Amino acid sequence: MQTRLDPKISKSRHAEAIESILRKCVHCGFCNATCPTYQLCGDELDGPRGRIYQMKQYFEGEPANAEMLKHLDRCLTCRSCETTCPSGVRYSHLLEIGKEMIEVDLPRSRFDRLRRAGIVRFINSGWVFASAIRIGQALAWMLPPALRRSVPARQVALPRSQAQHSRKVLMLAGCVQPALTPNTNTRAINLLDKLGIQVIELQQNLCCGAAAMHTSEPDYALRQVKQLIDHWWPHIEAGVEAIVVTATGCGVNVRDYARLLADDPAYADKAARVSSLYRDLIEVVEAHSDALEVPAAAGRRVAVHTPCTMQHGLGLNLRVERLLAGVGYQICRIEEAHLCCGSAGTYSMLQPAIASRLRQNKLRALGVDLPDVIATANIGCQLQLAQGASTPVVHWIELV
Ligand code: SF4
Ligand code: SF4
Repeated sequence: MQTRLDPKISKSRHAEAIESILRKCVHCGFCNATCPTYQLCGDELDGPRGRIYQMKQYFEGEPANAEMLKHLDRCLTCRSCETTCPSGVRYSHLLEIGKEMIEVDLPRSRFDRLRRAGIVRFINSGWVFASAIRIGQALAWMLPPALRRSVPARQVALPRSQAQHSRKVLMLAGCVQPALTPNTNTRAINLLDKLGIQVIELQQNLCCGAAAMHTSEPDYALRQVKQLIDHWWPHIEAGVEAIVVTATGCGVNVRDYARLLADDPAYADKAARVSSLYRDLIEVVEAHSDALEVPAAAGRRVAVHTPCTMQHGLGLNLRVERLLAGVGYQICRIEEAHLCCGSAGTYSMLQPAIASRLRQNKLRALGVDLPDVIATANIGCQLQLAQGASTPVVHWIELV
């Protein structure tokens, strides 16, 4: 695609990235065929090709306007379009740059900024978030059914292995997972212990920065990223062999630290080291698949929802299915497995109408083979699906 960047844009630090991404797009529109928002809204402006075109117009000098931002905000950043694109267009990077610049020219309303900041501060608030969840769980019986479904049932915390091994990995606790599904990391820690790997988890529930990135607070997100790197660094210097993440929504962000901090002289090298150490839990467990025992629940029918962050972001599609089939589960057929469930970080809170329709479609697609259980790999997807599912929704580690 030919580009003539506006002088203001061509002087920005993003000019090179903008040019190179835009030039790769040949306007073929293949990406629209796999875009969830294009399928739902049926509007070219709510598909990747249309969004790229709107950003191109802005980068070439058209003033930012509310309509442009509305269509960009409707994007889930699921990256299904990137998987489909034959030209290798890094759409999500362009969107990140486009939104950051447009929001400077066209600041969001005070209400929208407060709402976004409030969501991130709440889910990053540690004990405040955990206490709110506890109260919600205790009073769930009083809530109307629609609200009750949004509060996950309380998990009875399992004992955690404290065994020492010479092989050590770091594990991200995350900001919401410890309060909502604490047994996801506990089961991962206990399984890795059986495989001879000791897990080190920080006491503080530090956020990887993904939530703030989703709500257009890149500076706050980068402060969180640096704080996490500072806490991890002594363990990295002591020789941990990997940084394991059990939520793919966080993992895709940790893997991106090298790019996010590439221009920061104090953190670029450390961020690159963190990204190189990053592993999704499935990568660690499947490397030891010969040592896994057949679980008591083997033989049950499992529908696997592979999060967008796992299939389009991390390129780990079908890995959970392979692992679960290997230990004896029956893997169910899924229709349109490439489509997002509507969770998409904070999207389900910011765009509830679209997110709810995506959840209904996803649950229909997951249910065609009448599974006994739905397994996924990201806390956000797990909660989003559980709100509408009549089948239990679990992290896949609970089945191994
Ligand atoms: S598939 Fe790729 S090249 Fe084609 S319109 Fe979409 S982003 Fe552009
Ligand atoms: S990231 Fe997802 S929602 Fe956004 S344009 Fe691409 S396919 Fe569509």
